[in-house]
Amino acid sequence: MLTSSHRTAQHADVVIVGAGVSGLAAAHHLIAAGVTVTVLEAADDPGGRMATEHVDGFRLDRIGQLLNTSYTELDRTPGLAGLVLRPFAPGVLIHTDGRQLRAGALTPARALASGSFDQARLSAYLGRLAALPVDRVLARPERTALAALRSRALGATLRPLLTALLRDPELTTSSRVADLALRTFARGRLAVPEGGAATLPELLAAALPPGTVRTGVRVRSVATKLVTTEEHGDFSCRSAVLATGARAAAELLPGLRVPAFHEVTVIHHATAAPLPWDGSLLLDGDPRWPVAHTAVMSAVDPTRAPAGRSLVTTTVLGPPPPARTVASRLARLYGTGTRDWELLAVHHAPEAVPAMPPPYDLRRPVRVLAGLYVCGDHRDSNTVQGALHSARRAATAVLRDFGIRLPASAEPAVRAVA
Ligand SMILES: Cc1cc2nc3c(=O)[nH]c(=O)nc-3n(C[C@H](O)[C@H](O)[C@H](O)COP(=O)(O)OP(=O)(O)OC[C@H]3O[C@@H](n4cnc5c(N)ncnc54)[C@H](O)[C@@H]3O)c2cc1C
Repeated sequence: MLTSSHRTAQHADVVIVGAGVSGLAAAHHLIAAGVTVTVLEAADDPGGRMATEHVDGFRLDRIGQLLNTSYTELDRTPGLAGLVLRPFAPGVLIHTDGRQLRAGALTPARALASGSFDQARLSAYLGRLAALPVDRVLARPERTALAALRSRALGATLRPLLTALLRDPELTTSSRVADLALRTFARGRLAVPEGGAATLPELLAAALPPGTVRTGVRVRSVATKLVTTEEHGDFSCRSAVLATGARAAAELLPGLRVPAFHEVTVIHHATAAPLPWDGSLLLDGDPRWPVAHTAVMSAVDPTRAPAGRSLVTTTVLGPPPPARTVASRLARLYGTGTRDWELLAVHHAPEAVPAMPPPYDLRRPVRVLAGLYVCGDHRDSNTVQGALHSARRAATAVLRDFGIRLPASAEPAVRAVA
């Protein structure tokens, strides 16, 4: 174990600021290498953006989380062995021109046999992407996802899928990031953590040594050897890791750039009686309506609603629309009346995820200087996979500077899947 001659009452080899999934994952990687760690979190609970509210027996995610069973970092992060992913029905359902088409689940031949040329083309395209090595995807010309989409004759089906995967209605995201997101979609199944988004950080926090995470501690300044807090004194350390969101990171380290963000609203409804549904994620292919995607979340993960009722979770990529507009669109999408649905919660995140316009570096630096590091979804892709991967990169950089060698298997892939 590393020690410091300059010990104070509050000392750890590494102080991590922020107990979102990236801060918690970084703590795991460092502790596994024998380093002492303290994680300081301003909120009352760990988890950051991955939060779940409990209301009348419903579990309501503050974010419309779509994970993927092929997120490699879920397997590579210590502490997540107990994570159960509940997959959606294969592919997605796209509502367009009053019809619902399943995309991304059929082979091109079966899609053709079902009479849809568009679906067959999309399946063939996704199949080719799934087989491509990441390096080949990253070698493609980079422009916006919208410009790339216009050059492919797949717009009607691909646009709502990309919009949902990237949380970007204008498709200003880098086309390389978009291709990687589609590749991930094609290689796995969309899924949610059983029990709610908060389950993932809860598992990470519970598997850390007791006392590692200190909640209700807001950090005021960060330097290589000293982290100062607003009300809990100073923490001395050999290194500090900044694992906050992008804006808070730039406030604490003014050299960091504040990116643009995508805005997301998540709306939860309870139905009066169970709503029959097969667990599909339903995308709205009509951009005139505000809904990006919706699902009967309790059909995917039954722990999210009490017996006899269903939980419908809907994501809007923008500010909260009028409740009546959403209710009437959901009636159309689900083909059922929504008058007796109960609005449980509307969660609006103006800065939900950092934008990733071209040119976008999926491996932004995590080492500011020896003793000062930064991780989080603004250093990789703006996903849970990206946040976890950035944490492993930052922990690796800390350990290298400490002179600790990592087993080759623990080194981050130069180009892991986004
Ligand atoms: C609405 C929404 C929808 C999303 N949809 C998806 C999706 O479908 N798929 C997907 O993979 N990802 C999605 N994401 C993104 C995903 O949730 C994030 O990428 C991930 O949770 C980021 O984790 P993080 O640890 O980097 O940051 P955060 O979760 O933001 O954690 C940072 C932590 O730092 C703390 N902090 C900040 N300042 C201080 C301070 N001064 N002192 C102490 N602590 C501080 C904060 O309180 C917070 O707990 C979505 C996010 C949102 C908001």
